[in-house]
Amino acid sequence: MRGLSTDVAGSLSETLRLAAVHERLVFLCSFQKEESVILDELLEIAPQTRVVTIDTGVLFAETLATWRAFEERFGVRIEVQEALGTPPWTGPEHCCGTHKVAALERALEGADAWITGLRREQGPTRANTELVEVDERRGQIAKYNPLALWTERDLWQRIHERGLPYHPLHDEGYSSIGCAPCTQPGGGREGRWAGTDKSECGLHV
Ligand code: SF4
Repeated sequence: MRGLSTDVAGSLSETLRLAAVHERLVFLCSFQKEESVILDELLEIAPQTRVVTIDTGVLFAETLATWRAFEERFGVRIEVQEALGTPPWTGPEHCCGTHKVAALERALEGADAWITGLRREQGPTRANTELVEVDERRGQIAKYNPLALWTERDLWQRIHERGLPYHPLHDEGYSSIGCAPCTQPGGGREGRWAGTDKSECGLHV
């Protein structure tokens, strides 16, 4: 978007300030390093934001611990949208689409904008991410990606500078962390649905 800072730190704050004009604003949180960096600034800039997570029932124990650490550090109560299947995990071709995406739609019901931790560096499916987008699939609501320009290195520098809490599996080689049955260690999004053609769960198509 024209006029927005191309300096990484500036782009985060400026994009969040743009998002703050929305009364019904949602931040989707999956407790990864990106969400820690965003939450650190978001609630000061846009305290009206609803912070929502999607619980598939097959999250890592470390994810649940990070959830508690985020609530404590950022002073926020994180809303839950359940995406539990029967059984809870039916394989990468199925349960993302039928349960996780439906949970996101419920989370965004009535919202006029949402915020994500998407970054261009994460992989080819995210290489064209803009700081501000229109989510055409969801009735033209605004979608803010304040970390679009940030690199892995930028994130870690911020986390260490500010002593932010972060998901412990990042230290064990998991760059991107989703549900336990579908996530392995790996750089970028390599560890997500490894060994299949799948690289996105459908939340960000
Ligand atoms: S990441 Fe795996 S377990 Fe989680 S919703 Fe998608 S397919 Fe299901």
